[in-house]
Amino acid sequence: MHRCCQVLVSSSYDRTMTGTAPSERSTDEGDARVLAIAGLTEAVRLLDRGLAPRQKVSAFTRAGEVIASLEPDEVAARVAEGTLTELDGIGPSTSSVIADAVLGRPSAYLAKLDAASVVDPGVGGPIRELLKGDCHSHTVWSDGGATVEQMASAAMALGHEYLVVTDHSPRLTIAHGLSPERLAAQLDEIAEVNARLAPFRILTGMEVDILVDGALDLPDELLGRLDVVVASVHSKLSMPKDEMTRRMVMAVASPHVDILGHCTGRKVVGTGRAQSKFDADLVFAACAQFDTAVEINCRPERQDPPEELLALALEWNCWISIDTDAHAPGQLEWQPYGCDKAVRCGVDPARIVNTWHADELLSWTDSHAA
Ligand SMILES: [Zn+2]
Ligand SMILES: [Zn+2]
Repeated sequence: MHRCCQVLVSSSYDRTMTGTAPSERSTDEGDARVLAIAGLTEAVRLLDRGLAPRQKVSAFTRAGEVIASLEPDEVAARVAEGTLTELDGIGPSTSSVIADAVLGRPSAYLAKLDAASVVDPGVGGPIRELLKGDCHSHTVWSDGGATVEQMASAAMALGHEYLVVTDHSPRLTIAHGLSPERLAAQLDEIAEVNARLAPFRILTGMEVDILVDGALDLPDELLGRLDVVVASVHSKLSMPKDEMTRRMVMAVASPHVDILGHCTGRKVVGTGRAQSKFDADLVFAACAQFDTAVEINCRPERQDPPEELLALALEWNCWISIDTDAHAPGQLEWQPYGCDKAVRCGVDPARIVNTWHADELLSWTDSHAA
């Protein structure tokens, strides 16, 4: 991949660009192409942070591919002549972002996106400051929009010490879940990126699907090799309460499972999705018994668990993990949403596993996998 292309990060559910620029000439800061792509990348970050519709984010990703295929001189000339929109894939919004970036002007378009998606530190600010990492994130290996390195770089920029990469497991084919072979290849890539980004740490993991019978969608032997395992229900969310309870208890009882992801499966945006029914006392008692943390999922459309369930998890003295479930770099900025909820519900910071340094987190995950 060309250096320019590496700058541009696509949205959730898009693939990163693989286009190659025609020239390997100068890519310094004066390069109009680099400046344009940096502007478009910023737009993608802000759109993802605002959970913009996929088509809208894709327009900026596509524009970046178009720009990457041009010579720097042509980008500069088209900005000067106002002819960017003559290019297929460049419209009024993308051309305004490109022109402002190339000419070094403040962008009204980016300012509007920023204001619309800014995440207020809110009452959770003090807890957010204690968080050392994020234990649930996705990359292009499954249904995320950015590479391992792009996600890790964004996490570093937020001040994190580590990021756990938890792509989907094989049976979630709609999300391009990882087969054991692809997981092995991802672990190689993570090792290689880790060598470059140290002391920042990318921890290995998976968001393993909890199958209908409570089994996990990856052999124990492979789960045992991962640093952190999040287990989540993604199918048959409306199954009868008793069956769902048994299914979830089976999963959280696994010594390999560290975190129970978005426990109710609800969606609170748009047409929404009702939360699944389960005996929360039994499930949280099992989490407490088997040392499995309950996730506060920060995604704006999930906001899972609801406060009354989080209160119940606290009564059971469960561990808590505050995770973004980010599918794009801009979404790693959502942790304050979960921190606010933690403060409102009176979560003791000492119970939040991602307030720990990576080594402490790993000794905790190892202790119950033993
Ligand atoms: Zn999930
Ligand atoms: Zn996820």
